Amino acid sequence: VIRCRAAVAWAVGKPLSVEEVEVAPPKAGEVRVKIVATGICHTDEHLLEGSFPNVDFPVIPGHEGAGIVESVGEGVTSVKPGDKVIPLCLPQCGECTFCLNPESNYCLKCHVSEPQNLLPDKTSRFTCKGKQIHHFLWVSTFAEYTVIPEYAVAKIDAAAPLDKVCLLGCGFPTGYGAAINTAKVKPGSTCAVFGVGGVGLSVVMGCKAAGASRIIAVDINKDKFAKAKELGATDCISPHDFKKPIQEVLTEMTGHGVDYSFEVIGHADTMTAALASCNMNTGVCVMVGVPASGSVISLDPMLLLSGRTWKGTLLGGWKTRHSIPKLVSSYLEKKFNSDVLITHTLPIAKVNEGFELLRAGK
Ligand code: NAD
Ligand code: ZN
Ligand code: ZN
Repeated sequence: VIRCRAAVAWAVGKPLSVEEVEVAPPKAGEVRVKIVATGICHTDEHLLEGSFPNVDFPVIPGHEGAGIVESVGEGVTSVKPGDKVIPLCLPQCGECTFCLNPESNYCLKCHVSEPQNLLPDKTSRFTCKGKQIHHFLWVSTFAEYTVIPEYAVAKIDAAAPLDKVCLLGCGFPTGYGAAINTAKVKPGSTCAVFGVGGVGLSVVMGCKAAGASRIIAVDINKDKFAKAKELGATDCISPHDFKKPIQEVLTEMTGHGVDYSFEVIGHADTMTAALASCNMNTGVCVMVGVPASGSVISLDPMLLLSGRTWKGTLLGGWKTRHSIPKLVSSYLEKKFNSDVLITHTLPIAKVNEGFELLRAGK
């Protein structure tokens, strides 16, 4: 058993509490990882707000990390102590019908398919003050040591800087892949990205890499625009600057609406606005933002009947165990610069300050 620090969420709506926790050794098929760095994704904030009905508290959040294998359980062959790894919040078991389908990146062993958030065997490796603590998405990266099923760990290049490539655990591949895998943005096309936080900026990078000729960033926080422009946005607009609905503004700006639109916020109203902003016949709208649990969208069916395509994406469509190590290699070859997404670096003791910065749009 290892004693270390972790940020524990004891109850919905409460700040995280940095505690000493006990982390049990990995059982068969599991890996214990020393987490070196973790990002904060808005999905962690959704968790603290209580948006995941299947997640029980107390829980250790975090799902965008990078670390080093400390020990492995019986039967683990794909990683060994000392290997650098990225925990996969969307696993790839390689055996389920979804994993065997070349078109799919969902895995039936994903935590989202489970009604419980201990480990898959329904026990926890974390305790704190004598209480069992739940895991999050199998990975719980807000702990200095965590235990993860082998199929949710990807071995990466030993040269990778873990404090940078942790973002390749969620935000960057989600946004970048939403553009290149899910939407399949074509060269010369027009795109609109609703919400340019960490994930939305990654969508902008993906649209740019795919050769889009016009990329319109839409955000209510104009402080986000400088970075969006630096990464390839050609226009930046705030819905607050217009009297008419933003979908009408985008349609006028582009003639018949954009070829591809992306919702990267997680609100039902911006999801509908993003759909209405793309070309009525050939437009493709990708839903990336996670809506609050229980959200319902009502819409004019003509929006879809006229030909538009509306899709969603999980982790940008990547088959994670295969693709994340390749993305790390591409990062090392400087094919993209995800470091631009890093705004602040804080020690674990200041994790709540990190969430305050996220809430303040910083
Ligand atoms: P973030 O908080 O960094 O960014 C959200 C952005 O949306 C901010 O810039 C904010 O100003 C902007 N915004 C808020 N309301 C708006 C409005 N009405 N109109 C225009 N802009 C608005 O969040 P993030 O970490 O980039 O995550 C974005 C979303 O993506 C979240 O919902 C998150 O849960 C989701 N997500 C989904 C996946 C997936 O696999 N599908 C993966 C990661 C994150
Ligand atoms: Zn995330
Ligand atoms: Zn699978």
